[in-house]
Amino acid sequence: MIYMDNAATTALSREALQEMLPYLTECYGNASSIYRFGQRARKAVEDSRRRLASLLGVRPMELYFTSGGTEADNWALLAAAENAGGGHIITSAIEHHAVLNSCKYLERRGFSVSYLPVDRRGFVRPETLEREIREDTFLISIMAANNEIGTVQPIAELGTIAHRHGILFHTDAVQAFGQIPIDIEGMHIDLLSASAHKLYGPKGVGLLYLRRSVRLPALLHGGAQERGKRAGTENVAGIAGFARAAELAFSDMSERAARESVLRDHLIARIEREIPDCFLNGDRRERLPNNVNFCIRGVEGESLLIRLDQQGICAGSGAACSSGSLEPSHVLRALGLSHADAYGSLRLSLGRETTREETDLTADSLREIVRELRTQQES
Ligand SMILES: *Cc1c(COP(=O)(O)O)cnc(C)c1O
Repeated sequence: MIYMDNAATTALSREALQEMLPYLTECYGNASSIYRFGQRARKAVEDSRRRLASLLGVRPMELYFTSGGTEADNWALLAAAENAGGGHIITSAIEHHAVLNSCKYLERRGFSVSYLPVDRRGFVRPETLEREIREDTFLISIMAANNEIGTVQPIAELGTIAHRHGILFHTDAVQAFGQIPIDIEGMHIDLLSASAHKLYGPKGVGLLYLRRSVRLPALLHGGAQERGKRAGTENVAGIAGFARAAELAFSDMSERAARESVLRDHLIARIEREIPDCFLNGDRRERLPNNVNFCIRGVEGESLLIRLDQQGICAGSGAACSSGSLEPSHVLRALGLSHADAYGSLRLSLGRETTREETDLTADSLREIVRELRTQQES
């Protein structure tokens, strides 16, 4: 199998699994118990919080563990909205559904939302953001890097604008965290969402960074876990695995990015050279080091994925959550692509283990599959 879908999820690293195992076996105590057996679990949770905080350059008390990126996004938006009581939110048209559908929900609850357009390469323009700000805007939420086309947003500029107007700034950094540098202070970030399973950690655990000066209501009501803001017995093993995975991702971030972007550009170059009538989506330079996204004219994304799967290659089209639906990707539509082009899209996302040979095999298969699908259509 050739795994080219690391933007959908990554393999759990051996190191993260090792870190988790004690809390799935002998050390099963409840982190909220008084006895020392439970206190070992408590220590694992608080150690993990400290380690993650130090990677982000924030205080441990500013991090809250969640069940993943979706929960962190929901929390950020819903809590900011509840706190404001009414008013206006600005986000972009290319956000993950966790943000977009939270905004849709808030619209039904009487809030107004602006979905900023992006340019052809997927950038939110700072001047577009500035123009959209209203008297009652209380939150701006723009993703750090896009999960489909890999475009990395000018977060520092956007955050500066938000803060100049005294508006809260949230970023969905699920794709960026552990892949590209994030500077909470320099980028003026008040709230940030991250998820473990996108950086070789376990599924079902993530975090919300919440700046200490920002007071927001709780997400889940119950016990006093997460300082009363997110009740529920802690996912100790998941949290420990998350911390380990993040440490590893940060420790080799620049070498990994350098290595993956060489493979990425090699794959892009081969596809552009060998497959007629296709084009790259997203920006060429300001792009996640592992993301390749193409529109291939005259073939359906679905058929491509099925044929690649038959060759043992796992790839993605739109977002994992919207494939299976007949709607073309909202991200590609926002770039201005036609319905037809948006249907013919393919995302290949490389990972830590991807080899040059695998990128070559993928390019070979893709070229043959596209040729066959196009001949079938002609006849
Ligand atoms: C995967 C992803 C999410 C959702 O994270 P989960 O942990 O799977 O809930 C949110 N935003 C982006 C950009 C993502 O890529």
